[in-house]
Amino acid sequence: MATTASPGTALITGASTGIGATYADRLARRGYSLVLVARDQQRLDGVAARLRQQYGVVVETLQADLTARADLARVEQRLARDAAITLLLNNAGSTVEGSFVGSDMDKVENMLTLNITAPTRLAKAAAGRMAVAGAGTIINLGSVTSLLPESFSGTYSGSKAYMLNLSIAMQAELSTSGVRVQAVLPGATRTEIWERAGIDLNAFPPGMVMSVDDMVDAALSGLDQGEAVTIPSLPDMADWQRYTDARLALQPNLSRSAAAPRYNKS
Ligand code: NAP
Repeated sequence: MATTASPGTALITGASTGIGATYADRLARRGYSLVLVARDQQRLDGVAARLRQQYGVVVETLQADLTARADLARVEQRLARDAAITLLLNNAGSTVEGSFVGSDMDKVENMLTLNITAPTRLAKAAAGRMAVAGAGTIINLGSVTSLLPESFSGTYSGSKAYMLNLSIAMQAELSTSGVRVQAVLPGATRTEIWERAGIDLNAFPPGMVMSVDDMVDAALSGLDQGEAVTIPSLPDMADWQRYTDARLALQPNLSRSAAAPRYNKS
């Protein structure tokens, strides 16, 4: 009887709830073994037990606070050394509420460590090994807020713009390596992230918030379709292409030996 080859192991950060836990469900359904990473061991155990029972897959939990250097190093080492890991979902993240001027800098720094430093180090650890193996998938969670800094926290949207830039640069660098990099840019999605930041999702205009199930299913469909950037709610990806083309059209004039005429003093 023909058997389907195992897709390998997916390591998911922020897998105890929300988008990460939903990806864990979908990837288990696709036959992946899982390594689930987050801080809350009890919740990780709950997710793991359910997925083992429901899908019969191997699920390991790895408790780690990704803002703590030693914990982050353990996850990096696992990614760098475990050849069974074929997919990294760089998902753990947080947001902060309020204005920049009024913000609590310790909270902001913690968020930047979680949203930028941790996924960068994890992506490097995974990409290095996967490039040598000639195969692998890295999914980086960005956000549509990276395209709308006028309307959202500059520090959060900036951290997500960083993830988008990193993803695009990784795609260029790894294009012939067999390693796929997908950036996922969700809009507002119904998870605990809002409550954790003290933001009332119910105050959002009607029709603006997606369920986490629909968001993750769309993102995985984007992955299956080979998209480099997936924006789950964007009806026409030609809009994204036009945006990219307009950005790249600036390129010939972005670095030149002479200043633009408008800066020439008479
Ligand atoms: P969530 O429901 O708050 O879940 C966040 C996950 O990250 C949890 O599993 C949490 O688990 C884990 N986590 C938080 N701090 C951590 C730390 N220091 N170390 C390790 N794990 C940590 O958030 P979500 O909405 O699913 O967000 C997931 C990703 O999607 C984030 O990168 C977020 O920026 C992005 N995103 C979300 C939305 C949205 O509207 N929800 C929109 C765009 C992008 P523990 O508490 O157990 O550690």
